[in-house]
Amino acid sequence: MDLNDEVRQHKITLDEDEMPTTWYNVIPDLPSPPPPALHPGTLEPAGPDDFAPLFPMDLIAQEVTSDSYVDIPGGVLDVYRQWRPSPLFRAHRLERALGTPARIYYKYEGVSPAGSHKPNTAVPQAYYNAKAGVKRLTTETGAGQWGTALAFACALYGLECEVWQVGASYDQKPYRRLMIEAFGGKIHRSPSDLTAAGRAVLATDPDHPGSLGIAISEAVEVAAPDPETRYALGSVLNHVLLHQTIIGEEALLQLAKAGEHAPDLLVGCTGGGSNFGGLSFPFLREKLAGRMNPVIRAVEPASCPSLTRGVYAYDFGDTAGMTPLMKMHTLGHDFIPDPIHAGGLRYHGMSPLLSHIYELGMMEAIAIPQLECFEAAVRFTRTEGILPAPEPTHAIAAAIREALLCRETGEEKVILTALCGHGHFDLAAYDSFLSGRMVDEEITDARFAAGLATVPAVPAG
Ligand SMILES: *Cc1c(COP(=O)(O)O)cnc(C)c1O
Repeated sequence: MDLNDEVRQHKITLDEDEMPTTWYNVIPDLPSPPPPALHPGTLEPAGPDDFAPLFPMDLIAQEVTSDSYVDIPGGVLDVYRQWRPSPLFRAHRLERALGTPARIYYKYEGVSPAGSHKPNTAVPQAYYNAKAGVKRLTTETGAGQWGTALAFACALYGLECEVWQVGASYDQKPYRRLMIEAFGGKIHRSPSDLTAAGRAVLATDPDHPGSLGIAISEAVEVAAPDPETRYALGSVLNHVLLHQTIIGEEALLQLAKAGEHAPDLLVGCTGGGSNFGGLSFPFLREKLAGRMNPVIRAVEPASCPSLTRGVYAYDFGDTAGMTPLMKMHTLGHDFIPDPIHAGGLRYHGMSPLLSHIYELGMMEAIAIPQLECFEAAVRFTRTEGILPAPEPTHAIAAAIREALLCRETGEEKVILTALCGHGHFDLAAYDSFLSGRMVDEEITDARFAAGLATVPAVPAG
């Protein structure tokens, strides 16, 4: 019971006109750029022409830009203002429940129309495609957050939206599918019989649970040959992480407003790396400039640990091997993770940019099994009142670990994390946890070895 009458500041907000008007590109500030994507046939660096069947030129230019800042177009700023700047919360009640001297802040992206950080990139991606005269976007989605965000963005700019959803999530989570349909999108269970990639997988197992890698193959296969259709990716690529830096830029302003010099620990969940990159890159800029020194820590699920148990190698972004080869931390493009509840973290690879930064030793990574994450989520919900999506429960669990360490040491650390989405459509996951049915799968090295064996051998240099 907390009947304390003290009235404290919980939300640190910014006015709409305080919202940053540029995205931040971290690449020029790194000691070396990330290795280029390679054309899978020639093994030469992939050029703009290789990406042109999939993405409009404005996005391809952002993918390879050497500018430190990219202006956010007015038409995007105007849409962002519907929910941005998003609030930064101080987790006073969670801190008190943990008995920690640490100060915990979370940047809450669940206030967007889709309920996660995904519209931060869905909106500019739809905007640039519409500007280029594209009529339809195809994409994959895991838990459905990305599909929801893209369907929302397509509705705003008059584009058709066609989504392949990972089968396991499609079966478990009907509500996001309905939300995608409410926004006017069309959705298929992946693997589907609409594509050669899907049919090949169905031939091996008609009840295949699917994976993000398979769903990407299907969406790419449909977009590539059709001049009026392009493909949109919700994570992994440089331009996606670029768009998400609005999160970190706002958080920097908000922490300063809260009177904090800097976080001691910045922690976030990583599926393909976009919410984590988005929160952390502006802080990495400050760190590289010597203005602060936060520890930057990624948290991945123990069932899909591309940073902590994968290899750093060139691999395909999809299962069928249709994308350019990207140098990244990967579990192998054939790896099918267990159907854990954090559907958005079930991707075999990690953003090449984030993988490169990890290799440079500028950030660390840990993996946490889902039971600890949901225990943390329930603690969070019962104090802060927000029900987290399954993905950021990983970040919350890591923040709680650190806060409990601070209770031992007495250190008043400042912990910053991204609560990158709410879990209102993920109640099946909470059902599984609260009823005691959720389990942690122990993944053997042998099982990882099978996936890693599918990483193609690419000669160095
Ligand atoms: C998609 C998603 C993720 C995983 O993607 P990242 O690119 O790693 O951010 C995490 N959390 C939520 C809420 C998501 O929707």
